[in-house]
Amino acid sequence: MKLNTKVNILSTLLTLIILISSYTGIYFLFKNLAYDTEYAQLQNRADELVAAVSMLESVENIDSLFQAYIPPNGSLRVVNEQDKPLLHIQETASAERIPYTIEKNANFTVSLWNQTPVIAMAYPLIWPDHTVVTVELVQSLPDIAKNMELLKWILILMTLVAMVPIYLASVVLVRIIVRPIQSLTTTMQKNIETSRYEQITLQNRNRDEIAEMTQTYNKFMQQVETNYTKQQQFIGNASHELKTPLTVIESYAKLLERRGFSNESVNKEALEAILKETSNMKQLMEQMLQLAKASEQPKMEWATVAIKSLLTDISQSMKQAYGTDIIISGENITVASDEAKLKQLLFIFLDNARKYSEKTIDVRIVSEDLIKICVTDYGVGIPEEDIPHLFDRFYRVDKARNRKTGGTGLGLAIAKQLADLLKIDMGFTSKVGVGTTVTLSFTKRGTSDEK
Ligand code: ATP
Ligand code: MG
Repeated sequence: MKLNTKVNILSTLLTLIILISSYTGIYFLFKNLAYDTEYAQLQNRADELVAAVSMLESVENIDSLFQAYIPPNGSLRVVNEQDKPLLHIQETASAERIPYTIEKNANFTVSLWNQTPVIAMAYPLIWPDHTVVTVELVQSLPDIAKNMELLKWILILMTLVAMVPIYLASVVLVRIIVRPIQSLTTTMQKNIETSRYEQITLQNRNRDEIAEMTQTYNKFMQQVETNYTKQQQFIGNASHELKTPLTVIESYAKLLERRGFSNESVNKEALEAILKETSNMKQLMEQMLQLAKASEQPKMEWATVAIKSLLTDISQSMKQAYGTDIIISGENITVASDEAKLKQLLFIFLDNARKYSEKTIDVRIVSEDLIKICVTDYGVGIPEEDIPHLFDRFYRVDKARNRKTGGTGLGLAIAKQLADLLKIDMGFTSKVGVGTTVTLSFTKRGTSDEK
């Protein structure tokens, strides 16, 4: 069932129930009031009768006195203490005796006679012979029956008439709520069908819930679109990067196929090229895997890390692998960090410094307002306009140069993710032909509070 049908039915039913219960209450209240008024009148009549009988000295002509006090459409009956009737007079259109009941503990009793209510009450009276008797006053109430019937139909009619505007109001209200939801659904449907990321135009709806929902949807769509574009770019770049080594491998394989394996020098050259490209590809795959993993919010292992010791470790292994000289200066300060990730981050910058310069690398540990690590190389430098793009995936300043050095352009993209996790700010200052300094600032000092 659709939301608007559900809300319409529910709200109409609920109002119907409320109306019926309040009108039923009104009906019974009115009925009780009517009986109470009749009872008060009967009581007055009984009081007057008692006063009149008390003046009598004998029962002579007592019938005619009682005649004057018969309630309209009613009867009077007097019984003595032994329940023996002493007198009964009735004044109704029909000769049939009015049936009634009298309950001892109630002021009056109402029973039904031919669909008409009959009110009856008993009253003590001193008979002229000084015995105590009971006078029973009975009255049939056709007017009340008629009025109550009329009231019943008025209330039913009022309920029915009220239901029309109530239903219409509910339809209008539901439409106000449901229409933007429908338009949202239509846009979403369209987006699914056309694989696009269309946003919903926000109609002049200040700050209601629907506007908030629309804004949230638009933000979500924006995010999906950005992520999709990034993903597309990444796939494009990755396949482009893979194409180059694959083409090299393929061409050497074809060369071997054409020329056979008789030429020793060609064999050697082909094998070396294939091995080099395979290793490039392997490195690329590893970096891509790491990028994918880093976006999955990895578990951090925060601990106290001595920066200088860590840097010395890295510089020793770099010296061994590439023969690069790294000079470290500053105190061996400790920071709260994840040692493995920090090592990886420092390695990316030291590796760049090594790749893009021939000279010694300087690393300074500075403890000012914030703890900083500055890595300076005296190499090719980076043009200013390239600096903002360095952290983009696959971004390389000089494509040709980097193919020679074997870089894929993913190192700094990985560094950005690591620095975000480690809460480290990064900054580049560089001059072409002079060198580059990368500054890593630990944004939060201390140890345990960062866990
Ligand atoms: P890899 O993924 O192997 O690290 P890469 O070094 O080419 O490849 P990044 O580390 O992301 O990729 O660096 C991106 C680019 O920024 C490099 O290609 C290079 O052009 C430039 N670059 C980075 N560091 C330096 C530096 N210290 N001196 C000069 N250029 C640099
Ligand atoms: Mg690099």
